[in-house]
Amino acid sequence: MIKKILIANRGEIAVRILRACKDLGIQTVAVHSTADSEAMHVRLADESVCIGAPPVRESYLNVPAIISAACITGSDAIHPGFGFLSENATFAHMVEEHGLIFIGPKADHIAMMGDKIMAKKTVQRMGLETVPGSEGAVKSLDKAMKIAEEIGYPVLIKAAGGGGGRGMKVAMSPDEFAEAYTIAQREAQVAFGNDNVYLEKFLKNPRHIEFQIIADKYGNAVHLGERDCSLQRRNQKVWEEAPSTVLTPEFRDSFGRKIAAAISKLGYLGVGTLEFLYEDGKLYFIEMNTRIQVEHPITEAISGVDLVREQILVACGEKLSFTQDDIKFKGHAIECRINAENPLTFMPSVGVIRRYHVPGGIGVRIDSALYEGYKIPPYYDSLISKIIIHARTREQCLARLRRALGEYVIEGIDSLIPLHLRLANDPHIINGDFDIRFLERFIENNSDSK
Ligand code: ADP
Repeated sequence: MIKKILIANRGEIAVRILRACKDLGIQTVAVHSTADSEAMHVRLADESVCIGAPPVRESYLNVPAIISAACITGSDAIHPGFGFLSENATFAHMVEEHGLIFIGPKADHIAMMGDKIMAKKTVQRMGLETVPGSEGAVKSLDKAMKIAEEIGYPVLIKAAGGGGGRGMKVAMSPDEFAEAYTIAQREAQVAFGNDNVYLEKFLKNPRHIEFQIIADKYGNAVHLGERDCSLQRRNQKVWEEAPSTVLTPEFRDSFGRKIAAAISKLGYLGVGTLEFLYEDGKLYFIEMNTRIQVEHPITEAISGVDLVREQILVACGEKLSFTQDDIKFKGHAIECRINAENPLTFMPSVGVIRRYHVPGGIGVRIDSALYEGYKIPPYYDSLISKIIIHARTREQCLARLRRALGEYVIEGIDSLIPLHLRLANDPHIINGDFDIRFLERFIENNSDSK
């Protein structure tokens, strides 16, 4: 068993990983930028190493500094968390080259799924359906126009290397196509260093449903059900639920087993998420994330599995400690992402947390890196806390969520708590009646009434 893990991340996910390590009796090393020397993950870790200046290029993406920190502290493994270097195949490869364990899949699988075109081809071979679209990259405008015509408008132009809700352009009609295509290609080159774009039918009102899987190196793969992440703003998730109200237990079981079997055949190792759009009773694959996700706690709540603990163990060569038949889903869980943003304008908010009080009680979990007196630095993602509620039924879960959001006090900065309270009281949300367009409409209507 390994003795020490370096956590190459910050914020609530670094704290989440630290907790799993401590539960396993593994020593922890935090890395941090000069802006984060007072951060919670640094305070809670057994050791910490400053790896550079505040901009992420100089610290949390600084590969030589991170690998050196692991070597000088005698770490056995690196956990990348999410974002930053978590889906960087070159980094995963370099970590292994230095004799360290990368807590994630093999570099080849990261590269395969990181290229969305390759990912789609791979899952098609697994027998999964993908959103109708071009077969692979479309390199010329003429050809792209023809394919768009065949797919039928509206059409979405996506970057092969895209991620984080970026690198997508919609063309509603042929007149909009040339401009959207050219912009998408240019943006893809700038943002992802790869100008390959592909086309997909733009689904009008789908839900976003994703399946969690975990696999060990002995070919055991298990699915842990789905999460409904339809409530999004600018293609970024804001509120997630498990299970989805639209899948039946029979469908979940057979579809989940099918995915798990395919993942096992691929020889995949670790945790992963297959993302789908759901429309008219069908799931269309859009992409796979080869890392732990922000919304993993709702799966933990309903499955009882500590995903980060299991992720560490399988990376260290252990066998999965459970089989598919051991997994029994219980109740309903909702996660709200608490971003340091104005709840009406979504402007990022930075500053000092003047007062801080967390909600509690049965079924309430807070994953955050906040404390009273903490100064939120302006350089990083605005996600500062997650509230995760678990209850026997969805109705009870919503009631508990409203209660817990009401108890949560974060003073000194703006946060999305008021938005989540409005959502938790909205009749459409209460009825489970929403799709990926719902939240943007909801925000627009709310700003009109102000
Ligand atoms: P990223 O890797 O940037 O997160 P995804 O492919 O996962 O990109 O898509 C993010 C979100 O964009 C989806 O959850 C969905 O809301 C929207 N989206 C993606 N593909 C389509 C599509 N073909 N039609 C409509 N919306 C889409």
